[in-house]
Amino acid sequence: MPSAVLVKLDPTPRQERMLVAHAGAARFAYNCLLAHVKADMDARVKPEWSMYALRKWWNVNKRTLAVNADTGLPWWQEYSKEAYSYAAQCLANGLFNWSQFRHGKRYGRRVGFPAFKCKNKTRMAFAYTTGSFGIVADNPHAVRLPKVGVVHCFENVTKRVHGVHVLRMSVNKQGDGWYASLTLDKQPAGVAHAHGNVGVDLGIKQFATISDGTVIPNPHPYRTAKRKIGRLQRKLGRQQYDSHRYQQTKQHLNAQYARTRHIRLDMQHKLSTYLVRHWQSIGIEDLNVQGMVKNRRLAQAIQDAAFYQFRTLLTYKSLASNTNLVIADRFYPSSKTCSQCGSVKTKLSLTQRTYKCEHCGFELDRDLNAAINLAQLAKSALESLNARGADIRPVSNAPYRQSAMKREPSSKH
Ligand SMILES: [Zn+2]
Repeated sequence: MPSAVLVKLDPTPRQERMLVAHAGAARFAYNCLLAHVKADMDARVKPEWSMYALRKWWNVNKRTLAVNADTGLPWWQEYSKEAYSYAAQCLANGLFNWSQFRHGKRYGRRVGFPAFKCKNKTRMAFAYTTGSFGIVADNPHAVRLPKVGVVHCFENVTKRVHGVHVLRMSVNKQGDGWYASLTLDKQPAGVAHAHGNVGVDLGIKQFATISDGTVIPNPHPYRTAKRKIGRLQRKLGRQQYDSHRYQQTKQHLNAQYARTRHIRLDMQHKLSTYLVRHWQSIGIEDLNVQGMVKNRRLAQAIQDAAFYQFRTLLTYKSLASNTNLVIADRFYPSSKTCSQCGSVKTKLSLTQRTYKCEHCGFELDRDLNAAINLAQLAKSALESLNARGADIRPVSNAPYRQSAMKREPSSKH
């Protein structure tokens, strides 16, 4: 199973100009290729839209297309050919997905025909798949980007890649700067973990309640930054569109959004790593995020918590470290079940913060009660796994064992 390592880049001003130019070159090639496909379709000619055909067309026509309009000099050779291949790949994917959807072979959200990429609205991105890109032998804090140079990073990439072969490196600009994402051939080897089982109940006020009694509060990064973001958005609305100061405010705004994202991700990375390092079997619930977001009073709080992202982190980390992740069925009554005697309530309102059992009189914090139930689920899954002895399922099947009825939300929150 491939995995990825994301690092923040620290380019020099010259390198940053080259990054912007590469992303621009990719966008230019994409638009040229799309215009070519559209012209063919208008002329009722069946267009060749595989990645190879598109790349070939670009290589034939780049000498006339990628030319400076004022000087007449060609500029295509100033940038890595990987930028143009990336454009061809993006367009080929877009056309493939559109045609699959049109013929009823693809489910989920509607996929439209690819659109031209506008300079101001497109995310700056390109990727390397061949050539001498990736980690640098004598500098662990840098990555090599052909035609751009050896770019310093904010962390030790060599250590994180852990000697695994790098298949692809995509480069893109996010709100607070440039990032490189290295796709690795396989997961770097995980750490040995302790034994036992644990349950984790996810919530809004407390992000997670662990069955051993630990409570992880929700940092609510968006709620905290909401006033600041609102102020910047109003400021942006008053400014002359696309002026220098408009761009400045927009940068501040993007940095604010990036900050909220980082605070959330930091907490989730720490929690998921802690869980897979300490327990052999982890039980969590399958939250119907899309359904919950429809509750307008809770929508923002739920999106601020990003449960789906947490599950994604936990899934890949448990695969890497051989941990058994049990995702409870969406209809598993983790909150309504008594963790002492096992009786199930028919109704439990959200305002009742303490679980009181009518059968055995047991009383416990609502979230902790749910977490203990999930821990028991994780335990029974582990026991049935061990009971089968040699017949242990491959780890890749483990996270979805309990979730036959699960449907993936089509968007991540
Ligand atoms: Zn009870």
